[in-house]
Amino acid sequence: MRPLSHEELLRYSRHLTLPDVGPEGQAKLKGARVVLIGAGGLGSPAALYLAAAGVGTLGLVDFDLVDRSNLQRQIIHGTSAIGTPKIDSARERLRDVNPHVQVETFGQQLTSTNALEILQNFDIVVDGSDNFPTRYLVNDACVLLGKPNVYGSVFRFDGQVSVFYAKKGPCYRCLYAEPPPPDLVPSCADGGVLGVLPGIIGSLQALEAIKLVVGFGVPLIGRLVLFDGRRMQFRELGLQKDPDCPVCGEHPTVRELIDYEAFCGVGDGGLVRLSCSSSVAASLTLFWSTCASLAKRRSLASTAPVTSRYASYRAAWPSCRAMERSSRCAITVPGLSRRARFSKARDSRVCAA
Ligand SMILES: [Zn+2]
Repeated sequence: MRPLSHEELLRYSRHLTLPDVGPEGQAKLKGARVVLIGAGGLGSPAALYLAAAGVGTLGLVDFDLVDRSNLQRQIIHGTSAIGTPKIDSARERLRDVNPHVQVETFGQQLTSTNALEILQNFDIVVDGSDNFPTRYLVNDACVLLGKPNVYGSVFRFDGQVSVFYAKKGPCYRCLYAEPPPPDLVPSCADGGVLGVLPGIIGSLQALEAIKLVVGFGVPLIGRLVLFDGRRMQFRELGLQKDPDCPVCGEHPTVRELIDYEAFCGVGDGGLVRLSCSSSVAASLTLFWSTCASLAKRRSLASTAPVTSRYASYRAAWPSCRAMERSSRCAITVPGLSRRARFSKARDSRVCAA
């Protein structure tokens, strides 16, 4: 790597005199590759501070356009950028903040198909996503690739930060084995968020990423910081690695990326449709209600009326699976060790993602 130029020495002078950073730490920052998932509320402050700090290469993954309603908190974007891709707007701003930083943009949604390919080229992942499927996707990809995942999330006046690094501590699934039922989780669009909240949490994510790169301090591995903006309170929870974690545990069952929309029960993933005889439909109804009573905190999101030859169930459980076999249909509910098998009528059809 090339030594720091005269301009860089001036630019980073406050780092160079800082104990635990200095020229060596600054060189590590210059050689670092950090990717941000989302150039939104959390990604904005994180990217700005990481660029200003001199992280050599920043990756930005976002497929969205700048919307007027973003500007209340997504401070990397300006009014003139409304309607343009967020990655373009962010790249321009970061170039102005620090022209020494290489910005690599990925104007696509992070999916199970492209996540490993994109993330494998970076040292650290900063997750600024705002939905559960992406959060589980980022977590699993980071565990599979052995990368640290600097996690942050915000809602209304509260925020959370942690570093999930399965090599040295728990992962996101050790903390939240399963996503909440989709109907119970309002998004920031529905529930609101105070604009400064992602500024605080995203800045903490930038700090954790810098600590991991330079190697000073105590990283937030195995600890979850909860921030309450109304009381101005930081609390900390110790996190343990779950030996039964399906992705980083002793006997992992998730060895490749899965369908995270289905896992989180969003989109069509949670919909199980079965065209069958009335007796099979009645058995299925009984099966679902038994599962619902076993898992008291969950409930069926909706059950369409069962007609004589058609039943439609929206599975409230994440990753409910219905599988069509040659002559039988099997539905499993993970975590409940429950499995229903039904002989299919000749013309039966099961559709499930
Ligand atoms: Zn885990």
